[in-house]
Amino acid sequence: MQNTVQKIPDRLAAVLGRIESAAEAVGRSPAEISLLAVSKRHPASAVRELAAAGQQSFGENYVSEALEKIHQLEQLDLQWHYIGPLQSNKTRQVADHFAWVHSVDRPKLLQRLSRQRAADAPPLNCCLQVNIGGEAGKSGIPAEDFSRLADLAACAASLPGLRLRGLMSIPPPTDQVDQQRRQFACLAGLRDRLVAEGHALDTLSMGMSNDLEAAIAEGATLVRVGTALFGPRPD
Ligand SMILES: *Cc1c(COP(=O)(O)O)cnc(C)c1O
Repeated sequence: MQNTVQKIPDRLAAVLGRIESAAEAVGRSPAEISLLAVSKRHPASAVRELAAAGQQSFGENYVSEALEKIHQLEQLDLQWHYIGPLQSNKTRQVADHFAWVHSVDRPKLLQRLSRQRAADAPPLNCCLQVNIGGEAGKSGIPAEDFSRLADLAACAASLPGLRLRGLMSIPPPTDQVDQQRRQFACLAGLRDRLVAEGHALDTLSMGMSNDLEAAIAEGATLVRVGTALFGPRPD
């Protein structure tokens, strides 16, 4: 355990190095890409360790687990992103405790989040989740259904408690880099179409431990990395 904890700063340096090389390989500035550390199923002590090494933004997938960590780490002034499946009965906690949500795919969720966001808080930053690759039963608006995505974007943009920032996807995992790139390019294309409709989107949330290079090559502005920072998740 001690060993795992001591390696965290080295892992952070390695991931930042990967982001930098991937950006430079396609002529982008590494400064355009932010790193979200996905701390799901890792203890608050691991988050603390990474925060001490300079990481400020953390992503969580399970509301009750997240709230416990947020509470334990209150003093650190971290930025929390909710990236897990979202149900209506959890929107209040997300609106109260997070700066960002990446996983919205229904107007009802947007309406609840906006209504529940405190009036004196900054608007909740939102990404709409798209299902690339068409896996049945997965969250997200099907990539083929642009009109539904456009309607959802219009809904998000109209709500005072929210700030629509962009799109998020978790494409089916593959080791084929060209396939990874095709999937990420699809999300980038949908972002471009929404921008053409007048939405000011600055975020493409895509790429994880195994495919962040392909995501950066296709325009990711935020990569969500768990395993490469924290090691394998405990069960
Ligand atoms: C778990 C998770 C990640 C991180 O995955 P790794 O492969 O561990 O880097 C990123 N995004 C989402 C939505 C996740 O659930």
